[in-house]
Amino acid sequence: MVSHGDGRLMDAASRLQSQEVPGQRYQAIFDALPDAVLVIAEDGTISLANPAAEAMFGYSRQELIGQHYRIILAQGFRDGVERFFASLRLGQSSGDGTSVHPPFEVSGLRRDGSEFPSEVACSLLVSEHGPSLTATFRTTAQRKESDAGLREAMSLLSATLESTADGILVVGSDGEIAGVNDQFVSMWGIPRELLATHDDAALMGFVLQQLSDPASFLEKVHQLYAHPNAESHDVLEFNDGRTFERYSRPQKVDQKVVGRVWSFRDVTPRRKAQEQARKALADLAEQAAQLKAMAFQDPLTGLANRKLFHDQLTEALHGEDSAAVDVLLLDLDDFKEVNDILGHHAGDQMLIEVARRLRACVGPDDTVARLGGDEFVVLLTGSPDAVEVAERIVDSLNVPVWIEGAMLRPSLSLGLASMSQDAMVASELLRHADVAMYAAKAAGKNRYMRFQPEMMTALVKRTDMEASLRLAVDNDELTVNFQPIVSPRLEAVTQFEALARWDKGGERIPPALFIPTAERSGLMSAIGTHMMREGFSQLRPWLAGDRTRSLSVNVSGVQLRDRDFADNVLTLAEACAMDPRQLVLEVTESVFFDPDEHVIEQLVSLRNAGVRVSLDDFGTGYSSLGRLQDLPVDAVKIDRSFVSMIRTGAEQLPILSSMINMAHSLGLTVTAEGIETAVQAAYLTDLDCDLLQGYLFSHPEPDTGLEIAILRSADAIDALEGLRLRR
Ligand code: C2E
Ligand code: MG
Ligand code: MG
Repeated sequence: MVSHGDGRLMDAASRLQSQEVPGQRYQAIFDALPDAVLVIAEDGTISLANPAAEAMFGYSRQELIGQHYRIILAQGFRDGVERFFASLRLGQSSGDGTSVHPPFEVSGLRRDGSEFPSEVACSLLVSEHGPSLTATFRTTAQRKESDAGLREAMSLLSATLESTADGILVVGSDGEIAGVNDQFVSMWGIPRELLATHDDAALMGFVLQQLSDPASFLEKVHQLYAHPNAESHDVLEFNDGRTFERYSRPQKVDQKVVGRVWSFRDVTPRRKAQEQARKALADLAEQAAQLKAMAFQDPLTGLANRKLFHDQLTEALHGEDSAAVDVLLLDLDDFKEVNDILGHHAGDQMLIEVARRLRACVGPDDTVARLGGDEFVVLLTGSPDAVEVAERIVDSLNVPVWIEGAMLRPSLSLGLASMSQDAMVASELLRHADVAMYAAKAAGKNRYMRFQPEMMTALVKRTDMEASLRLAVDNDELTVNFQPIVSPRLEAVTQFEALARWDKGGERIPPALFIPTAERSGLMSAIGTHMMREGFSQLRPWLAGDRTRSLSVNVSGVQLRDRDFADNVLTLAEACAMDPRQLVLEVTESVFFDPDEHVIEQLVSLRNAGVRVSLDDFGTGYSSLGRLQDLPVDAVKIDRSFVSMIRTGAEQLPILSSMINMAHSLGLTVTAEGIETAVQAAYLTDLDCDLLQGYLFSHPEPDTGLEIAILRSADAIDALEGLRLRR
């Protein structure tokens, strides 16, 4: 092109000008160019055009030449060229050598009026006609299109970056932050000011302080920078409990790594949901296990239940090996009293303690089950000595336990049955154990008994008993025996206790057996009334001899539940001409804890009529001594088990003295029962016990034996006095 500083070119131009329009000598070159070339005179007229210009603007060369260049420029671009012309001329005149300018954009105008984007490059051509302009047009429609595509892609990209939930950080190969999106800033809580400082170290510090394990975060970063092509995915735990997933991949341009893109995704809600789901699943599994356990477990004690026991027993009996199989069935003695007196919570505590002790008595492979209530069973397989285990259980159960402030001594009756040589089904084995257990109860509780075939006969007898007892009551076969009770102070018999006797076909059935049967079968009231009537009438002569003498009659709690009990007793006493003040009713502690309040009312109205109430078997119940003051009683009878602790008479038995002193301080009369030796009688007399009863003085006797009983008692009293005097 043209350079005004070049003298040779200036000369050539001058030469050209004389014979040609400006640029004409380049016509051939221009014609071959793909771009549209126009030469424009200073007045704006087109003096030359090439074929590409014809094609671009839709005019023929003839039509273009002589026309003002405005016809090929869209409105708004025409002045621009004018100004550009001026500036070119200025540049030329100022001699700064800027005759060539970088291309600029215009909008071209075709003959048909359509516009199109174009780039135009201009240069100045100087001739004697003055300066003219060579303008080269190149349509940019295509480039515009691709630019628009790029812009669109860019805006899409940035919109995507800003709308994504991921936080994105781009770091150049030089380690400097090349860009972040808004989400990155807000996820990490980065203050804008910090970001603006471009202090990457401070930014890193800010990031690290939030992480629970910043060291491994840094290590990972270093690892990745050591391997620019590596990609990674890991999880970041935050101090505040959030969790991010971190992805990192290299940023590449034309296969060359130019940096690294980090993206962070807050997966806290997802992780929490996963954790919840995991926990829910674990809970579900635990519940299923619990349900399964519950199906085979006693919920209170955690022992096996009846079902599991039966399964285990059946399995043991069908086992290949001929190992011993023993069943120990046990039932707590007087458990009902614990429940009645101390409440169900205490009862539960007792059952739990019993379960614990039972487990401790057997091996890990043995089964201990609670069959319900206070009934337990132990299954021993391959045990060398089941009797020894039974002994251990009875002993270990009898150790006292403190429950809710009360000292309890659990006791049980245990029946042991073992698989015999002949085949035996589970139900039969269990039944044998049951029979043995019943025998243990009947034999006085707190013991074990091994099953014996004879026990089956006893069982038959037992089922027989109720029917026979009913018959005996109807036929007045029950009789009364009287046992004297002596006053050491008065040295005389002052009371008789009426005790029921049943001779069944020549065999004497103990009250301990038939009284519970009577209570169960509704016969107790009839027996009680019978006892009282017989007692009143048979003892009347002796009672009439001295108003201070009395008759004591045992009364069962079952009788007291009868609302007419007090009235009936008083009516009967009147009918027998018996002074109610000569009547003592012996009741056991459990009647005071009967939930039926009428029971107490009966006793209260009887006491109001002068009848005295005595607490029988005192000390064996579950109530503490301290509760004595709350009970509506006039006397206590210290149980035989306490008396039997006196052997030599030299022992210290504070329990006896406290019982007596406590009762006395409450104004109660104290009787000691079961006295068999003079030593016992002397010991208790020394403790100021008011009344003494026992075989030492006399066995219970029928009314025909009253005199003998009194004489024997007198002898014993004499002997007692002699003993006391000798000491
Ligand atoms: P309990 O009322 O404590 O009667 C005392 C028991 O001890 C009586 O037994 C008596 O024979 C016995 N015994 C008296 N002295 C001695 C002794 O020195 N040594 C020994 N080892 N025992 C002695 P029994 O007659 O067999 O009566 C047992 C229980 O049956 C009575 O205990 C009482 O609770 C109940 N019972 C007896 N008769 C009746 C009755 O008519 N009605 C009610 N509800 N229960 C009765
Ligand atoms: Mg009694
Ligand atoms: Mg008693």
